[in-house]
Formats: sequence, structure tokens, C-alpha cells
Amino acid sequence: MKAIAVHPGTPNSIHLRDIPKPRLDDVPDGRGVLVKVLRVGVDGTDKEINAADYGAAPPGDDYLVTGHESFGVVVEVGPNVPTTIRPGTLVVASVRRPGSSIYGKIGLQDFTTDDVYYERGINLLHGYLTEYYVEDHQYVFPLPASLSEVGVLLEPTTVAEKGVNHAYEIQRRLRVWEPRKACVLGSGTVGLLTALVARLRGLELTVYSLPRKPSRNAELIEQLGGVYASSQDATLAEVSAARGPFDLMFDATGFSPIVWEAAEVLGKNGVLVLASITGGDRKAEINSDRINQSFVLGNKVMVGTVNASPNDFRTGVDDLIKAEAVYPGWLGQLLTTPVEGLENYRQMIEELTDNPDAIKVYVEVARS
Ligand code: BGC
Ligand code: ZN
Repeated sequence: MKAIAVHPGTPNSIHLRDIPKPRLDDVPDGRGVLVKVLRVGVDGTDKEINAADYGAAPPGDDYLVTGHESFGVVVEVGPNVPTTIRPGTLVVASVRRPGSSIYGKIGLQDFTTDDVYYERGINLLHGYLTEYYVEDHQYVFPLPASLSEVGVLLEPTTVAEKGVNHAYEIQRRLRVWEPRKACVLGSGTVGLLTALVARLRGLELTVYSLPRKPSRNAELIEQLGGVYASSQDATLAEVSAARGPFDLMFDATGFSPIVWEAAEVLGKNGVLVLASITGGDRKAEINSDRINQSFVLGNKVMVGTVNASPNDFRTGVDDLIKAEAVYPGWLGQLLTTPVEGLENYRQMIEELTDNPDAIKVYVEVARS
């Protein structure tokens, strides 16, 4: 069967190749789920993998099948798969798999302390940009048929879910935490989905991002009832003075200096969630006394987040369902850039690297 792959370590090595079709009993103990891939989203991680800045092939292979934002339909299940997953069920598989740390043993491999981590389509495990995959049922999450159009957005949604869920989890220390105002930094796919999640939690929303209005992304924020501000028109301190203080801030910009400005304006008892993967070596001058003092006197928290746990997949499915009810059609507007078929992998990578207007680029692998 066809697959889109790279040779990790070799820049721009993306290619189409033929790989063996997986079989249900590749997964032991009757726990296998064989899935036909329908759509796969791509993001900055895929761009970095093709640029050879990131990613590793599975041991013994000189190629990595890419793609970690999956969406598919079950074709066959083993005898020990729960009845919530049947042939015909729409599913999304998670990305990270356990290594040797204790967190993997309790199903929380997103918290691994191992130096090496295993992620399908990213690091040491093949991904989903192919025609079929097989997976243990514990890593496969069912979606209702009502999400057949937008289900491919689940994996990036889970990244937002984990950050927001953990903000609430951390703040249980306060006994009473009634956040009112959220500020999301960045308006790419994760920024937009975090904005959605914040609104669905009933928070007043401000989004601070580089592009000026008018833009599709700003428009999407306004459709959620949020306020959009461009960093070309106002500093974060000015935005906070007008719209804050913020109880929850979430960085999804990919621009690390902004994190220190956010730390400075974060409200008392607030949480700042960091979700940008910044592989460079950028440096910034910061107001260290002011930031430190405001954290101490204001009992503030700054927390990093990566990947997602099974619970974040479940709340992600719930929020996608809720989004379709509360903001009908909103999610669909994120699906700006379909690419027809695995054969068009060149177009896929061009849209990802050169199309500034694209929100979500995804490959339409099969119709059903
Ligand atoms: C993926 C996450 C992954 C992270 C680090 C992101 O693009 O969506 O699932 O944990 O990259 O590799
Ligand atoms: Zn990703």
C-alpha cells in the first residue's frame, strides 16, 4: 500500500513509497483495530521532519512514514476489542506510545521522563499517512458520525485540551478558582482550537497574534465572541490593561520571547500554559525582577505541556461535539486546504511551507 515517508536526517526527502499492508494480528491478544485512513492533517512538526530538523526512523528502517493527525474508519477488530469500537466506527489514534518510564505504565506516556520518546509519525514509529494502520484498541478513540467532516481536527484539539485541563487541575490547589478571562497567544491551528476550548469553558476570550486584521483567523476569533489584537498594533501589556487581568494564558505562537511578556502581565493566581515547541536558540532580554516578584506576590504558575492523555482525547471529542452545537460550521472553516490523495505529497508539503493563508492542510486519503 502507498505511504508518504521521509528519510530522517536528509532534508526534503519526502516521497511516496510502497509498504506492506498491516494485519489485524500484528497486535497480540485480539486487541487489534484495523483502520482505513480517511484524512490526515499536517502541521509544523511535519514541516520540521521534512526539513530534517526533527524525527527519527523506526529501528531497522531507513524511512519514517509521517503523519500524526489521523482520522479513519474501522474495518476489522480483534475479539478482545470493546464494543464501543466496531467495524464502521470513526476513530482517531493517539500519537505517543509508552517507553520505559512509570508514566507509560499508567497510560500517561505524555508525561514520560525518558529521554527517548515514541511518537507515531514523528519519532521511532511509523505514522498515519498511508492507507491502513493497525493499533491496540487502548490508543484508538471513537468519534460519533456527526464528526465525520471535522474529526481530523481531534489530535491538535487534544494539545489544547491537555493545556487547559491541566490549568484547571493545577488550580485545584486554590480550593476556589473561578477564572473569567483567557488570553491565547497565537492564532494558528492550536491557538484557534485553544480559543474554542476556552470559550466552551465559559471564559471571556482575547487572542493576541502577529497578523493584522482583517484576516480569516481574526474573523474566526470574533465568531467565537472573542477579541482579536495584533502584536503590530499593541503590546501585550496594553492588551492586558484593556482586557485583563488574565486568569489563564496559553502560548501557541512558536515565538518564545512573548512568554516572558505574558509572565509579566498574567493575573494574580493565574496560570500561563506553554505549548510552543521552539527548536531554535533565540535569546530575549526580560524584566526578571518584575516577573519574579509578580510570580511570588501573585502566586502565579507557569507550566509546560506536550502531547495529550486519553482523558484529553475524551474531552476533545466532547468539545468537538459541543462546538458543532454552539458554533455550528466554525470547525469546518479551519479545514482550509485539502490535498487529494497520497500521490500529491509534493503539493501537501508546498501548502504546508509556502501557503500563509492555510489554517489546516490535510490529505484526503480516501472518501469512506
Ligand atoms: C504533536 C504532539 C507531539 C509533539 C512533539 C506535535 O506536533 O501534535 O502529539 O507530542 O508534536 O513531538
Ligand atoms: Zn502536531
